[in-house]
Amino acid sequence: MKAHHGMYIGGEWRPAAGADTIEVVNPVDEQVIGRVPAGTAADVGHAVRAARAALPGWAATPPTERAAKLAALRDVLVARKDEIAETVTAELGSPLPFSQAVHAGVPILVAGSYAELAATYAFEEKVGNSTVYHEPVGVVGAITPWNYPLHQIVAKVAPALAAGCTVVLKPAEDTPLTAQLFAEAVAEAGLPAGVFNLVTGLGPVAGQALAEHPDVDLVSFTGSTAVGRRIGATAGAAVKRVALELGGKSANVILPSADLAKAVNVGVANVMSNSGQTCSAWTRMLVHTSQYEEAVGLAAAAAAKYGDRIGPVVSAKQRSRVRSYIEKGIAEGARLVVGGLESPREQGYFVSPTVFADVTPDMTIAQEEIFGPVLSIIRYEEEAVRIANGTVYGLAGAVWAAEEAEAVAFARRLDTGQVDINGGRFNPLAPFGGYKQSGVGRELGSHGLTEYLQTKSLQF
Ligand code: NAP
Ligand code: MG
Repeated sequence: MKAHHGMYIGGEWRPAAGADTIEVVNPVDEQVIGRVPAGTAADVGHAVRAARAALPGWAATPPTERAAKLAALRDVLVARKDEIAETVTAELGSPLPFSQAVHAGVPILVAGSYAELAATYAFEEKVGNSTVYHEPVGVVGAITPWNYPLHQIVAKVAPALAAGCTVVLKPAEDTPLTAQLFAEAVAEAGLPAGVFNLVTGLGPVAGQALAEHPDVDLVSFTGSTAVGRRIGATAGAAVKRVALELGGKSANVILPSADLAKAVNVGVANVMSNSGQTCSAWTRMLVHTSQYEEAVGLAAAAAAKYGDRIGPVVSAKQRSRVRSYIEKGIAEGARLVVGGLESPREQGYFVSPTVFADVTPDMTIAQEEIFGPVLSIIRYEEEAVRIANGTVYGLAGAVWAAEEAEAVAFARRLDTGQVDINGGRFNPLAPFGGYKQSGVGRELGSHGLTEYLQTKSLQF
């Protein structure tokens, strides 16, 4: 895909207010593959005005018609699936089959789910002598990260549009081409002008201007807890709605009755997938002391097989972040069993799939989000639940046991928003979001839709 030199605002590609640009780099070979405009507060202002102007018309459009537009958008994503996968691979570095299956495939599922929900959701209900209307919150400012570039966009834009909101998106600076491709798809699907607007740019400039804009009614942010905390404070001061999808440090709890080899192999695959750049990744593996060395051996063998096949991390900055965590793991006395600081390739932002054993719950690598292909294996004696719950995060997790009932009973004690039981499958309709500092609000399915709705009650 060829980079656009403008912003997608009010249904057309318009020149940016300023002349600054952002270089897009392919993390596999470190080559510049495109340039997009670095938006400023002026661009954000234009985009918010366009979204505000489009709001009354879109909010009043019958849900079935909004549903038809979302179905058309899904169809464009299907038709352009290969181009989406190639674009994500070019700017994120993920291997093409993964880009096809996940980076392109999941947004198609999610867009389709909101086409269906828009058509079937009860936007009006009777409660005693009242009629309750579920109305759109208004203009949405969406700020997204680079790790699942299209998924993060669709998980916000599709429910917002289904609800009758209009949107201004500020995507991650590292993956703006996927966002431009999404804007092309919106245009091709025939969504009315101004319903979706795109401003590429840097977080502290364009992102902050969007989060602070007085005419934005709801800010939906996915990214780091540090930035999310600031966005939450800004939104709180303005008394506006905010949804925060933040970091995670999820536990993969292997109970003694579980199929150990399966639990370890699936667990390693989960952490290495997308080069470890997944907020819900099970980066802490909790294993009973009686099976500990066997699990370490299995995990080491599984991780060693990946080599450079997982793809690089997104940027030089991200690689140095991940490396500094590996250094910290070694310095704090964890046992490095696979991987480490050496890169599997000379060129590109590759990090070796890395496994640490003898990680104690208080170590930095057991507490902080690394966002790279690094697994920590932690030993438990009697109680795994206290260790599993012992971080500031609570986004996801996994529990393995011979009987589902045993795993479910354990999962109910976890302070976390999602738990996969014995390797349960991804469900695009299940609410996704965090307990504790992993965030506020939920995405996906009907729970994701209600984030963009507010109620009005009429009494009779
Ligand atoms: P980030 O800085 O929080 O970026 C997320 C989004 O927020 C990007 O679009 C970013 O723009 C924007 N942003 C940055 N500063 C902002 C500000 N002051 N006001 C408004 N928007 C702002 O995350 P990152 O730098 O990409 O990654 C850092 C770490 O965050 C990762 O290593 C990982 O631990 C975590 N992370 C978590 C998730 C998740 O899904 N939970 C996703 C990505 C990252 P720029 O692209 O210009 O920075
Ligand atoms: Mg950043």
